[in-house]
Amino acid sequence: MPIIVFAIDADLKVKTNARVIYSVKLLKTIKEFSAETITEQQKEEIYSKLLALNVRDKESRTQHVEGIHKKKAEAANQVSANSCPKCGGELITRKGKYGDFKGCKNYPKCKFTITN
Ligand SMILES: [Zn+2]
Repeated sequence: MPIIVFAIDADLKVKTNARVIYSVKLLKTIKEFSAETITEQQKEEIYSKLLALNVRDKESRTQHVEGIHKKKAEAANQVSANSCPKCGGELITRKGKYGDFKGCKNYPKCKFTITN
């Protein structure tokens, strides 16, 4: 089961079925799981991949953040043009329990929704 971990100063803005926790709870959450599902070698591989992926220097961190903002802006543009940012399908206005929202025409294949 995936666990999504946020630094303490991050705001969670997505909905997900995965466990979402803040970093201070990470160790406690990991310790809730006891079944061994990976080998020692896999563990080493994951560890070295994580080391390589960790964004340490300021410049690549800035690029990373800019990339996210750019993606977000592109998605917003697509939504305002009624195009699904996930699959490119048409977005149609649907009536929900809690008001109108835009949903992808390819539902249930694509579950993208956004509130107006
Ligand atoms: Zn879609």
